[in-house]
Amino acid sequence: MPFKAHENPKCPKCGKSVYHAEARVVGDVSFHKECYKCSMCNKMLDSTNSNMHENALYCKTCHGRKFGPKGYGFGGGAAGLSMDTGSHLEKK
Ligand SMILES: [Zn+2]
Ligand SMILES: [Zn+2]
Repeated sequence: MPFKAHENPKCPKCGKSVYHAEARVVGDVSFHKECYKCSMCNKMLDSTNSNMHENALYCKTCHGRKFGPKGYGFGGGAAGLSMDTGSHLEKK
């Protein structure tokens, strides 16, 4: 019988269908309520503190750390410390 399945959007986090009642919609992407959390620190998000980057969710803190305007990367000044001047500082 021609049962017309209602197409639910897929959650990019877990790949399962998202039903309206549990959907957290960001732009044209729907997440489950429980999947609507930061992909780095797993903090639950709401519309006021969420940021999305290429279908991955981040809280404001992690998003700022990863993509922030000042370009803080992980490890902060690690790139600078890899220069050989760093070894002088460590050796006392
Ligand atoms: Zn999900
Ligand atoms: Zn986070």
